[in-house]
Amino acid sequence: MPEGRIKEAINTLKKSGVRITPQRHAILEYLIVTMSHPTADDIYKALESKFPNMSVATVYNNLRVFKKAGLVNELTYGDSSSRFDFSTSDHYHVICEECGKIVDFSYPGLDEVENLAEHVTGFSVNKHRMEIYGTCAECREKSLKH
Ligand SMILES: [Zn+2]
Ligand SMILES: [Zn+2]
Repeated sequence: MPEGRIKEAINTLKKSGVRITPQRHAILEYLIVTMSHPTADDIYKALESKFPNMSVATVYNNLRVFKKAGLVNELTYGDSSSRFDFSTSDHYHVICEECGKIVDFSYPGLDEVENLAEHVTGFSVNKHRMEIYGTCAECREKSLKH
């Protein structure tokens, strides 16, 4: 399954004229396989041993290339640690307030909200962001043990 998605992503990059380096391939693969919405730093740590010459800045620059090609979403949270998400089908995020884990769940895009916002405000709407907050199963279990 991931192989097909990696190939597809590589094709998209090629079409937009992006050169595929071994580092780019590895970062993309990591993003597709991990599901954990990593920061640039997380990706750097995961691939460090494979690419000793790579820096966090290189990882970040590559992520920006992917973002420009529409493959990756950047989730910013008002601090320096943006998280990166391989763009798949419509999904929203549930975020654990204890450990910061971000989990995907499928839900059809809330187009009506965008339409209404356009209608009411006269804006041309590009996107929206909805997040759900709570405590993940693991953190709930941990707090029960104490
Ligand atoms: Zn948690
Ligand atoms: Zn996600």
